[in-house]
Amino acid sequence: MQAPNELFARLAEGTRDFLAQARHRMLIGQDWTEAAEGGWLEVVNPADESIIARVPAGGAADVDRAVRAARAAFDDGRWSRLRPSERQRLLLRLADLIERDAQVLAEIESIDNGKAAQIARVVDVGVTVEFFRYMAGWATKIEGSTNEVSVPFMPRESEFFACTKKEPVGVVAAVVPWNFPLLVAAWKLGPALAAGCTVVLKPAEQTPLSALYLGRLIEEAGFPPGVVNIVTGDGPSAGAPLVAHPGIDKVSFTGSTEVGKLIGKVAMDNMTRVTLELGGKSPMIVLDDADPTLAAAGAAQAIFFNHGQVCCAGSRLYVHKKHFDRVVADLAVHADALRIGHGLDPETQLGPLVSREQAERVCGYIDIGRQEGARVAAGGGRADRPGYFVRPTVFTSETDALRIVQEEIFGPVVVAMPYDDIDEVARRANDTPYGLGASIWSNDLSRVHRLIPRLKAGTVWVNCHNVLDAAMPFGGYKLSGFGRDMGRQSLESYLETKSVIMAL
Ligand code: ADP
Repeated sequence: MQAPNELFARLAEGTRDFLAQARHRMLIGQDWTEAAEGGWLEVVNPADESIIARVPAGGAADVDRAVRAARAAFDDGRWSRLRPSERQRLLLRLADLIERDAQVLAEIESIDNGKAAQIARVVDVGVTVEFFRYMAGWATKIEGSTNEVSVPFMPRESEFFACTKKEPVGVVAAVVPWNFPLLVAAWKLGPALAAGCTVVLKPAEQTPLSALYLGRLIEEAGFPPGVVNIVTGDGPSAGAPLVAHPGIDKVSFTGSTEVGKLIGKVAMDNMTRVTLELGGKSPMIVLDDADPTLAAAGAAQAIFFNHGQVCCAGSRLYVHKKHFDRVVADLAVHADALRIGHGLDPETQLGPLVSREQAERVCGYIDIGRQEGARVAAGGGRADRPGYFVRPTVFTSETDALRIVQEEIFGPVVVAMPYDDIDEVARRANDTPYGLGASIWSNDLSRVHRLIPRLKAGTVWVNCHNVLDAAMPFGGYKLSGFGRDMGRQSLESYLETKSVIMAL
């Protein structure tokens, strides 16, 4: 284990320069600015609880300025009517700049969120680069249709030309969480910008730094001012006025179901378009023909990736009773073997959780699990060191009727449960209010194909979990949300369809 100051000494020069500004500013129009009311939020490194930066505590006045800047950039056509090939070129340029500064962004993400920088470089930053490239391509492939119409109530000799046109929806409020700060911002910015929308981005108060760095790269890439605005601040002071602002045409939100419901109600008042990617309690189902060794390794990755702070984390593990003891034993070995440490330490596999509040919340659930009678097979509480570290925890339970099985924990905690037959497990897998992801572990193609349609989840993985791709839409059934991020479906959600009917 290396001391934090040794790790900081090895940071990339760009990271050190960025962190040297003790107070960061937010981007509104072409100005890097403080909050109108002058307040600041402290940004904490969850690995050692030190304050690494201060960012403006944005409020309603800042949100209003940012929305007006985005509105002006949309209405005057500097982005919405720019040639699609120009929008594509700028998005590709942005992807190149992110790739150039991948190490800096990974280190910033690690210090801000706690995750291992090596993983952030490959996953958070690497996937962001590819995602912007994928979405850049859509900018030049937006199309409507020409339609043959009948208009039965008009005289037979009348003729029409009819077509649909796609138009950008307008000004987008993108409100993002702290688990994948850069990547989820990209999930919103990519399709919005490809479609010709302008954006006000509000990063999570716990993790605002990578968005601010991205703002610099957006400027360097040459995006016109006002196309992307970044307002830092907390949910009630900055997020709430942003989503309720009458100048917003669409809200794209990723976060808790609780806040998603609030945003959905506010959006309905203004008829603002809305995409909500919310919580989950995703099942992983191991059939009796599965290889228990592979299934246990898969389960470890499904729940411990990003410390379980993943909305589609495999947090309920259903294992056929034939393999149950073996899979649980192997999973416990994986959990105990994960190297916990500072995100900048190259040896680290599992960093701290994002905040004290989150670590306490997760440990509160671990206590509840014990009180409810679940058995601890691995982990079971805070790691004995400074920082917000929680040990990867495996519970077993015979029943689903526990809070730790029903409620989203959003941490490295899985509950393994045995089952008998496939009808039973299909029913139990669906027996939560959520429906984001599910995975099936089996090589019996016939049973797999019959199970896929029975699972009420936006994504079903087979022999893998947490595998996401720019081309594949991602979102939830039931309380897991509304609409989709990624893929063509996400682009469509930033477009209005206009019908044009011309009497000839
Ligand atoms: P978590 O519980 O995981 O922190 P939240 O749903 O509270 O997730 O937060 C996700 C994002 O939503 C953050 O950027 C947060 O600031 C923002 N947010 C929180 N409350 C509100 C609100 N009432 N209106 C708009 N945004 C909010």
